[in-house]
Amino acid sequence: MDRIGGRVRTVPFGDGVVEVGAEWIHGIRNSSTYRTAMQHNITIIPQDPTFKVYRSDGTETDDELLLNDLVNFCFVMVGQKHINFVGGLGEFITRRLLLYVKAKYPYLIKDTGFLPEFVGLMNAYISVHEASNDWNEVNALSEYEDLKGHQHMSWHRYGYKTLFELMLNTYNNGSGLPNLDIKLNTEVTQIIWPEDGADVRVICADGSTYTSRHVIVTVSLGVLKDRYTTLFKPGLPWKKIEAIEKTSIGAVDKIIFKFDKAWWRGQETYYGFMWKAEDKIKLPIEDYWMTKVFGASRPRGSSNTLSLWTSGEMGKLLEQMPEDILKRKCMELLRKFMGKCYDIPEPTGMIRSTWHSNPFTRGSYSYDNRLTTQNANDRRFLAEPLVDTHGVPRVLFAGEATDSHHFSTVHGAVDSGYREAMRLMNNRVF
Ligand SMILES: Cc1cc2nc3c(=O)[nH]c(=O)nc-3n(C[C@H](O)[C@H](O)[C@H](O)COP(=O)(O)OP(=O)(O)OC[C@H]3O[C@@H](n4cnc5c(N)ncnc54)[C@H](O)[C@@H]3O)c2cc1C
Repeated sequence: MDRIGGRVRTVPFGDGVVEVGAEWIHGIRNSSTYRTAMQHNITIIPQDPTFKVYRSDGTETDDELLLNDLVNFCFVMVGQKHINFVGGLGEFITRRLLLYVKAKYPYLIKDTGFLPEFVGLMNAYISVHEASNDWNEVNALSEYEDLKGHQHMSWHRYGYKTLFELMLNTYNNGSGLPNLDIKLNTEVTQIIWPEDGADVRVICADGSTYTSRHVIVTVSLGVLKDRYTTLFKPGLPWKKIEAIEKTSIGAVDKIIFKFDKAWWRGQETYYGFMWKAEDKIKLPIEDYWMTKVFGASRPRGSSNTLSLWTSGEMGKLLEQMPEDILKRKCMELLRKFMGKCYDIPEPTGMIRSTWHSNPFTRGSYSYDNRLTTQNANDRRFLAEPLVDTHGVPRVLFAGEATDSHHFSTVHGAVDSGYREAMRLMNNRVF
């Protein structure tokens, strides 16, 4: 692309910055990203994922303690290992949630409205967290492992881009890395890797060619799905092709608005949107996507912006919607839920992400789908290098989807790069 960072994209917006892609450091113990920030005295601050919930009739829920307790319970369930449960993540969480509610809030069981509405909100929220279309597309037995520590650490006004400035030694007017030569706007179209041990050749769309003993490929799983048939010559081994086909990458998208000044109150991170069944039914079919926007968040890097979040097929739909319609409909949605409590002005700007339609990302991040249990080694196969006839790794693979336990994150992506660098070092190829 015309910039570095890939799925990390910090943009100046409002009175600070917003994150169009990755927003938080998830966990701090053994986190390469957190460690990098600490080594350079960058303050990273926790941003608790607290909710204030509004209903589709414009009322706000009054028991915030209860709601946040339930949200927190669901979120904790996502991170648990469910060894004896075969099925979707949503089924697992719903079952556990019912037991929890029965024990702690028994009066809620009789409330036929609240629980289905809350479960609908959690489906939309956790689907965004997982990048899935629905929370039951995600395997309850995911291999993902949380790093210990706060799960929502924010780069706030520094922006996630600071990670790259630190890595490239350009932070605070640093002099950069003299031996590093990054070619922007240079699309790789083919990687020719002679099996007999001759140099690997990288062919680019602008006609340029680079030769090297080794190549590390870090394109997203979405780009691999799109291009693996033409990108590699000779083609990829069957095991890797199967892993590319069977592992899932989903879309998570944000629509970020800026306003003259903040019109919302309170310190919550999220304003959740809880649909009443009767309001859902009344929606025209072309507006059904609105039920999959779980709410809005307050970006930590600016004080007068709000991000709406969605995922899956609805995210892909919103990526394609004409800007003026998208803006009008999103403002309708905000006013439907929050308009009775606030006088909501027109926004002064909008940014929408296009992670699925971008040919250089083709998705937001990978998740463990329902087939994962049968194909437990797929991420290992994704990470396996292409070796020549002497057994030397020539084309290596990194990127978030290749990390078996920390996929879908920036720290997983960074670690996977070190993993492949170490593979070359350990093979004593230098
Ligand atoms: C909306 C969203 C929210 C997220 N939130 C978080 C979060 O809060 N915390 C977190 O840890 N993670 C989050 N993530 C995930 C995180 O951003 C990714 O896991 C991580 O950035 C992936 O890094 P990568 O190096 O594997 O791939 P990428 O960042 O996709 O890098 C791949 C690079 O390959 C380049 N490329 C692709 N095709 C070609 C080609 N043909 N020729 C040349 N170059 C090519 C791309 O331009 C890109 O620079 C989020 C992602 C999104 C989209």
